[in-house]
Order: sequence, then structure tokens, then C-alpha cells
Amino acid sequence: MLRQDAERFMLGKYLSDKKIPWQRRRRLGMTVAGNTPTASFLTKIGMMQSAGCWLCKTAQEARGESTDGLADETHGHINNAGCEGMATTVTAALHSIWRHLYDSMHAAQKPKSKHKFVTLDQESNMSTVWRRKSF
Ligand SMILES: [Zn+2]
Repeated sequence: MLRQDAERFMLGKYLSDKKIPWQRRRRLGMTVAGNTPTASFLTKIGMMQSAGCWLCKTAQEARGESTDGLADETHGHINNAGCEGMATTVTAALHSIWRHLYDSMHAAQKPKSKHKFVTLDQESNMSTVWRRKSF
């Protein structure tokens, strides 16, 4: 999404694809427009009293901690691992994306390439890499 013009092209393609359910396209459109119905947005338009994240509040209350100074519930907040209620889910999603990216890079690797993916199916550290490679 950092490539110039690529993100707008992909966004337009997604939003105009009739095969994708309307609810998903509408949700993405709301996100891009910055009006996702989060507590922050609802507070901004006068529909809620507090912009504090209820997921973080629930997690802090479960631990018996104070809920003072809660982070604002914004789209960015609930979609990153900093939100206490979403951290596990967001981390799992990021790991899944990484695994897919890693598998795709491995599948696209040319047979004659000297570069090897050392951690495709298992964790590696310098000790295990050293044992596999004969110098
Ligand atoms: Zn949160």
C-alpha cells in the first residue's frame, strides 16, 4: 500500500467488486472515510459520553486495575496489538499474514537461488543454522 497510486487502484477495485458482499465494502468505505462507529467517533458526534475503549476497560476491570486514562477507541486503536481486548486476535492475524507472505516468497523462489528460507516450518537460531550449513 506504500507504492504510489497502487493503494487507490486496489481500493477502487475492491469497493466496486460486486462479488464482495455490500456490508464488507461499506465497512471499508467507512474506515477510509474515518467514520467507523467507534466510541471515539460516536463521542465526536455526541452519541456517547466517553471515547474510552471498552475492550481495554473490560480487560483492566477483570484484572482489578483502575480504568482511568483509557485509550480512545479509534479504528487504529482496536486494530493494533496495543488494545488489550484485541491484542491476541490482532497478533494472530499478523502472524497469519506473515506466514502467508513467507510461504508465498518460498513458493516463488527460483530453484537455483542461493538464498534459503531457514525457518519455513520450524524455528531456527544461529546454533541450528550453523549445524545445517557446512562451511
Ligand atoms: Zn482497547
